[in-house]
Amino acid sequence: MAFEELLNDPVIQKYLHELVGPEGMPVAAAPPEGEVTDEELAEELDLELNDVRRALFILYENDLASYRRVRDEDSGWLTYLWTFHYDNIPENLEAEMERLLEAIEEREEYERTHEFYLCEVCSIRFEFGEAMDQGFQCPECASPLESMDNDALVEAMEERGAALREELNVDIHADAD
Ligand SMILES: [Zn+2]
Repeated sequence: MAFEELLNDPVIQKYLHELVGPEGMPVAAAPPEGEVTDEELAEELDLELNDVRRALFILYENDLASYRRVRDEDSGWLTYLWTFHYDNIPENLEAEMERLLEAIEEREEYERTHEFYLCEVCSIRFEFGEAMDQGFQCPECASPLESMDNDALVEAMEERGAALREELNVDIHADAD
């Protein structure tokens, strides 16, 4: 099996699992050295050919696999020879984590800079301006809207952001270098 060192990383395992799903994971988790056909993979891993093809196509879409077509001289059939490109994983993963971090930071900023009110009956949250427009009364059930503390939410986002920042600066760079 190729790319064993990469595949030992739980972050990378999780990333592949999210891409291909549980049915595709046997394909994604055991990339062979060199070229392989979808039929060979299906036989070797004892999987449905369709599941193998689906996983390969997802990897292809994410720049983690490529194929070349070869026509059999006698039968005229086309064979697809696949190559795995897992050396692209750290870069893909880093880009994805950067997007996620950006989204979390944006959301955290929004939570920090807004004041919220809650209808405890309907569990609907309103920004201060919306609550004021409603006269601090729930438009659904007319219960009074209560000022809402979102410190725990902000704190959870801070922690998630810090964890992502740490992964981005330490793990992925270390693996990619
Ligand atoms: Zn309500």
